[in-house]
Amino acid sequence: MDLRQGIGLRKLGRTVDEFQQDLLSNLYFRRGTTVESASMRDAYETLSLTVRDHLAERRARTAAAHYASNPRWVYYLSAEYLLGAQLEQNLLYSGTGEIAAQAVKSFGLTLEEIEELDVEPGLGNGGLGRLAACLVDAMATRDIPAVGYGIRYDFGIFKQSLAAGGQAEGPDDWAFQGNPWEFPAPDDRQTVGFYGHTEPVPGSSTRKVWVPGEIVLGEPSHMLVPGYGTDTVNIVRLWRARGSEASFDLSRFSAGQYAEAVQEAVRAENISKVLYPDDSTELGRELRLKQQYFLVSCSLRDIIRRFRLRNEGWDDFPEKTVIQLNDTHPTIAIPELMRLLVDEYELDWDRAWSITRRTFAYTCHTLLPEALETWPVHVFERLLPRHLEIIYLINMLFLREVEERFPGDVARVSRMSIIGEHPERRVRMANLAVVGTEAVNGVAELHSKLLRETVLNDFADLWPAKFQNVTNGISPRRFVKLANPRLSDLITEGLGDDGWLMDLERLAELGSLAGDASFLERWRAIKRANKVDLAVGDPDSLTDVMIKRFHEYKRQQLKLLHIITLYHRIRANPGGDWVPRTVLFAGKAAPAYHAAKNIIRLINAVGATIAADPIVSPYLKVVFAENYNVSLAERIVPAADLSEQISLAGKEASGTGNMKLALNGALTIGTLDGANIEIRARVGEENFFLFGLDAFQAAELQIAGYRPWEHYERDPELREALDAINAGLFGGVGHDVADSLLGRDEYLTLADYRAYVDCQDEVERAWRDQDRWTRMSVMNTANSGFFSADRTVADYAARIWRVAPVPVAKDH
Ligand SMILES: *Cc1c(COP(=O)(O)O)cnc(C)c1O
Repeated sequence: MDLRQGIGLRKLGRTVDEFQQDLLSNLYFRRGTTVESASMRDAYETLSLTVRDHLAERRARTAAAHYASNPRWVYYLSAEYLLGAQLEQNLLYSGTGEIAAQAVKSFGLTLEEIEELDVEPGLGNGGLGRLAACLVDAMATRDIPAVGYGIRYDFGIFKQSLAAGGQAEGPDDWAFQGNPWEFPAPDDRQTVGFYGHTEPVPGSSTRKVWVPGEIVLGEPSHMLVPGYGTDTVNIVRLWRARGSEASFDLSRFSAGQYAEAVQEAVRAENISKVLYPDDSTELGRELRLKQQYFLVSCSLRDIIRRFRLRNEGWDDFPEKTVIQLNDTHPTIAIPELMRLLVDEYELDWDRAWSITRRTFAYTCHTLLPEALETWPVHVFERLLPRHLEIIYLINMLFLREVEERFPGDVARVSRMSIIGEHPERRVRMANLAVVGTEAVNGVAELHSKLLRETVLNDFADLWPAKFQNVTNGISPRRFVKLANPRLSDLITEGLGDDGWLMDLERLAELGSLAGDASFLERWRAIKRANKVDLAVGDPDSLTDVMIKRFHEYKRQQLKLLHIITLYHRIRANPGGDWVPRTVLFAGKAAPAYHAAKNIIRLINAVGATIAADPIVSPYLKVVFAENYNVSLAERIVPAADLSEQISLAGKEASGTGNMKLALNGALTIGTLDGANIEIRARVGEENFFLFGLDAFQAAELQIAGYRPWEHYERDPELREALDAINAGLFGGVGHDVADSLLGRDEYLTLADYRAYVDCQDEVERAWRDQDRWTRMSVMNTANSGFFSADRTVADYAARIWRVAPVPVAKDH
C-alpha cells in the first residue's frame, strides 16, 4: 500500500542533503526560528522532530495495516515504564543515524552534544518498569499489534545524589523543557469518577448506578514505540490527570482567593503528579489507589472505544482483546470492566464475568509477602464504593466454587478469599488478579514454581492449567547495540552480519571463536576500552559491579562485608599479591526505607576509609555512582567484569540486570535465585560463580531457627568485619547495619558470608588467568541469546496471548 498516493505525503529525507533540508524545514516551521538564532535546545528539538517524522510515517502505515486486519490486540497495563533515552534509540530504529550525524555536522554540531539534552523519562522504579519498556520494544519488533498504557507522571523517579555520604532525593521534572517525543491526544480525553455512593436500579439485582463525588479528566498523549528491523511502530499511551473546566472557581479568583480558586484542579492534577518511589514495600495510601484506578479507568474506556471502532456487540471482545496486567497495580481493571459491562452496557452478570475472565492475564512479580498488595476495605469503600460491591459479589461466587471443590476446608476458603480478615479487613489484589484472569505467570522458572508451591498454592490446586512461566528478557538493541557499540561491531564481524540483533540465539555461533587468540585479544581490548570510557577506576583492575535497587533481600550488605574483609586482608599483608579491584555500586533506595539508606551510607564510609588508606587504596577502590537509571546502566554494563547477583535465594523473582551483564560478557557471581539459575544452565556451570544456600535450604534454615550470632562467633574474618564497623572504623557509620545483621538478619546474610568470600577467592584465581577469563566472558555472551525480550514476547504470544503478528507493508 502506498499511502503517499492517496494523501500526497512528502518523501522524508534519505540522503544527507535531504535530511538537512528536513532539519531546516522543521527549524523554520515547527520551531519558528532560524539558523542564526537557533539555540542548542532548538537543535535538539529540531533533530528529534525530524527523526520522529520517520517513525510517524511508519506509524501511519502500521495503523493502516492494523485497521485492515482487525487483529487480536495486546493491551499492556503497567503503572511504570522506564523507557530510557529516546533520541539515540530512535536514530537507530529509524536508520537515520549516519545521515543525521553528517547533516548536523554541516551546522557545526555533533550528535553527541545534541544527545546530551535528551532526558530519560523516569516513569518507573526499577526492574518492573524496565521490563515493561523491553516488552513493548519487543512486541513492536515482533509485529504484534499492541498498546502500552501507563501514567504520565509529571515527576518521575526521584533524582538521587549523595549528601554527607547518604542518599538525598530531589524531584525529577523530566519534561520541564518539553518532550518532543510525545503526541498529545486531547480528543481522546476520558472522564474518571471517584468517591460518592451507589444507587439500586429498579428491577435489577446486579446493576447499580454509581454517583461519583469527584470527577477528574484523563488526558492522553502517546510516544512512538518502533520495532527494530521491521516497519511496525506501536504506541505507549500515557494518561495525565486534569481538572475539568468547572474545577476552576472564577468567582473565588475574582475575590482574590487565588489558592481556593484552583484547589479542586490541583487536587485532580495531583493524581499524576509523582511516581510513587516505593519499590516492593507498599507505602502508598489513598493517592496510590487513586492513581491505579485512574490508569485503569482511562485505559479500559480507550480499549473499548478502539474495539467498537471495528466490531459490533460484545461476543468478540475477548477474542479481539487481551489485557496483560503488569503486577497487581492495574488489577482494579477486573471490577472496572465488570462495572462497565454490567452497569453501563447492561450485560447480565454471568456473561460479563465470562467476558472479563477471558480478557485478562496477570504477571506476578514478587514472592515477598509484604510486596503482595492489599488495600484496607474502608479505603476502597470511600474511594470506589461500586467496585467494592462488585468485588464482594465476585468473591461470594468464587468462594462458593471453592467450597464445592473442597467441602469443609474452611482454612482454605479463608486463605483464598479476596477479602482478608486479619488484622483488619483488606482487599487482596493478588487473589483478585488470579480469580479474574485466564492466565497467571511468574517471571523465571524458579519464581513460577515457588508461586505455584507457596504464595498461590491454593489457586494452583484449583486451576493448575492457569499457571505458567514466562522468563523475563531484555532488549539486545538497547543493551548491546546502543550501549556497547564496540562489542556489537565485533560480534557482527564475527558472525558475518547483524541479524543477531533480531535473532539473539545466533550469538551461540560465537562459541567457536572462543578458541581464537586474536579474537580473544580484541574482546579483552573492548572491555578495557569500555572501562576507560566509564572512568571510575584503573581499567586493568577487576571491575566488580552491583547495580540495582537497594533492598535488604538483594544484599548489598553482603558485598560490603566482603569488601571489608579484603580491606583487612590487605592491611594484614601489604606486600601480598593482591588482585586490584574496583567495586562499583549504583542504585536508589526508597526514601522511607531507612535500612537500605543505611547501607548506602556505610558503602560510602567504607569507600572513604579505603581511599584514605595508602596501604589498601592501590588494590581496592569503592565507588558509588549517583542516580542509577537506564542511561547509567548503559554506561556501566559494557564495562563490567563481574556481575553481583547475590540475593537471598527465593526472594528475587527474576532479575534482568543479571541478563544485561551476562550478555555483555560479565561473569556472574550469584546465588541460585531468579533467572540466575537459567543463566547458569545456559552459560555453563564452569562459566558462572555459584555460592550459597538455595531457596529450599534457606527456607529450612528459617524454619529450624536461624542464629546469625553463631556465624559471627565461628568465623574470625566475619567477626573482624562486623567488629570494625562497631568500633567506628568507618567514620562511626554503620552500627545500624551491623545491629540488624547480628540481630535478626532476615535475609540470611551471615549464613552465606563464608561461601561468598570463598567464592570471591575463586573469582580472583580465574581473573589471574586472563585468557581463561576472556574465554569465560565470550561464553557468557554466546549463551545469553535466550534472554532476549523478543523470546519473552514470543513466549507470551504463543502461550498466553495467542496472537499472531501483523506485518506492515514496506514503504516503496
Ligand atoms: C535493568 C534495570 C533494573 C533491574 O535490575 P535488577 O538487577 O534486575 O534488579 C533496575 N533499574 C534499571 C535502571 C535497570 O536498567
